[in-house]
Amino acid sequence: MSECKLCLIRDMAEKADIYEYVKKTRAMLHASEKASDELYEERLKHCTGCDSLLSGTCLKCGCYVEIRAASKAAHCPISKW
Ligand code: SF4
Repeated sequence: MSECKLCLIRDMAEKADIYEYVKKTRAMLHASEKASDELYEERLKHCTGCDSLLSGTCLKCGCYVEIRAASKAAHCPISKW
């Protein structure tokens, strides 16, 4: 599997199975816990411009950023969002 600096899981064809997990996890969040689509995309923009992103994983916290960003209450470990 290739590593892609600055890629999200959704951008990596070889991680389609993990992306299904990401989508299911996001869909399971209660509406009150879920970041809006706008907030979610804004957060992911920060991640795709961040040196700590590697193949969809944040090297600061070890999370898939597309899951971390989905929760309204979550935050970036280095306060980028
Ligand atoms: S959560 Fe923060 S530190 Fe991690 S990749 Fe995104 S912007 Fe970078």
